[in-house]
Order: sequence, then C-alpha cells, then structure tokens
Amino acid sequence: MSWLTNVVLPKIRAVVSAKREVPDNLWTKCPACGQMLFHRELEANLNVCHACGHHMRIDAKKRMAVLFDKGEYARIELPKPVVDPLKFRDSKRYVDRLKEAQAQHGPNRDAILVAHGKIGGNDAVVAVFEFGFMAGSMGIAVGEAIVAAARLAVLQSAALVIVPSSGGARMQEGILSLMQMPRTTIAVEEVKEAGLPYFVLLTDPTTGGVTASFAMLGDIQISEPGAVIGFAGARVIEETIREKLPEGFQRAEYLLDHGMVDMVVRRHDLGETIGRLIGLLRKPVLEAPKKRA
Ligand SMILES: [Zn+2]
Repeated sequence: MSWLTNVVLPKIRAVVSAKREVPDNLWTKCPACGQMLFHRELEANLNVCHACGHHMRIDAKKRMAVLFDKGEYARIELPKPVVDPLKFRDSKRYVDRLKEAQAQHGPNRDAILVAHGKIGGNDAVVAVFEFGFMAGSMGIAVGEAIVAAARLAVLQSAALVIVPSSGGARMQEGILSLMQMPRTTIAVEEVKEAGLPYFVLLTDPTTGGVTASFAMLGDIQISEPGAVIGFAGARVIEETIREKLPEGFQRAEYLLDHGMVDMVVRRHDLGETIGRLIGLLRKPVLEAPKKRA
C-alpha cells in the first residue's frame, strides 16, 4: 500500500492545493443559492446568477451600459457644491471619508452619475446612484445632480429615468441632506409639468429619505427582482411593532403584489422595456374622432 500513500496521495494533494492557488476573485458565490459562479461568465450575464436568477448589485457605469441603446451614452459634468458644510466628524472626519470614496471611484465623484443618450430610440436622461460610494447616500451633491438631470430632461425634451440604490440621507450633512427630499421632489415635478415621462427603476436597496422623496413618484415604478425597497429597515419595524413580518416583506415582488410597484423586470429586459414605455407615453395624443351631426 506504500505506493498509494507515497505517490497517489501527494499527487491528489498537489491537485487540490493547485486549485486553492486560483485567485478568489475568479469565482463569486451567489449569496442566494450558494452556486459558485465564474467571474467572467457572471459579468457577461450582467451580474445575474445563472443558477437561480438572483440579481447582484452592479455599479453605476455598468448600469448605464445596460440601459442605453448599444451601451452608448454621454455623461454630463455635475455641479460641485460646498463640501462638508457642517465640518462634521464622527470617528473620522467627513472630508476624509469623502476622499476615501473618491480614491476608489474617481476625483470629484459623489454617489450619483448622470448621462443622456437613447433608450429604445427615444431621448432619455438617466441618473444612477452608486451604492459603493458611501452607501449611495443622498447629500447636497446628489440633490444637485438630480436637479441637473431633471433640467436637462426638460431642456432636451427627453424622458427622465432615475435609478436609486441608496441607504437614504447622508447623515454627515444633517438637515442639509434632508433638504434634498423636497428639492428632488420639485425637480421631478418640473419634468412632469413639461409633459415628459418620469420613470423610477428601483434597485437593491432603496431605503430611507430616497424612498420618501423622488423615488416613489415615477409615472411608472419599475423594480429589479428581489430588490429591497422600504423606508425603515425590517428589523427596526419588527422591534417597534413586536410582530413577525410576512415572508418577502419589502421585496420587489411583495411590493408588486401590494400595489407599490407597477412592474418587476429582469435586468436583461430593462432597456427594451423602458424604451417601449417611453415610446408609449410619448406617442402624440390622437385627436378624438369628430361626432357626426
Ligand atoms: Zn444563485
């Protein structure tokens, strides 16, 4: 039996340990079903699990590429508001937290990108939240960006699509971040007053002050499958009302069943669906046939 232990076992060990040397980032484990997914395949499938269809988060640039026709769009420069107006500091200074996030995402960045282009052949302005940037929190910069996006839509006579993915207001900007709730609400109202369609694509997670303002005001409310959408977190609600919450509470499908969301659409179908909806809402109203005398 010595050949078995001396030759075969070391060979098996070599094979097993060789596998361990493969970098971790080549594989991603699906958080929903546990399936190991090859990174390149997962990316090609728009970060949707092949096995169970779970939609993982994607960054703002990828989101833009998914929505616009042929992935082509032009980003606009966003206003640069006063940084750290309250000189806020917790365990770290707010300016340092901002610098860290910008080192990761790019200089002068905040938790949102705005671009314009075509969706289904229709003019559209799209504002996408970057959850990776301070949990997509809405401060003055994000508010300014949404106002800029809404004004651009009016200027170009284009549809406005906002894609939130946010933990809510940016606490480091205190009351000034809460002020973005009425500001963004008025901004999207301007688009509606101009007779242009406004869509919200709710992605995982949409919570807090973002849910409580522009994100619930779309002419059509679309959501990605499985997205968490709510105001307060489920645990906080459970502890407050001291009751067990129903299965799937605050998930897109639950909200669809209860009338808070109009449609739940797979990531692969989003561009086509939104393009079709813009086309329908922008169709010139036909004159009513004249009544015969
Ligand atoms: Zn899965």
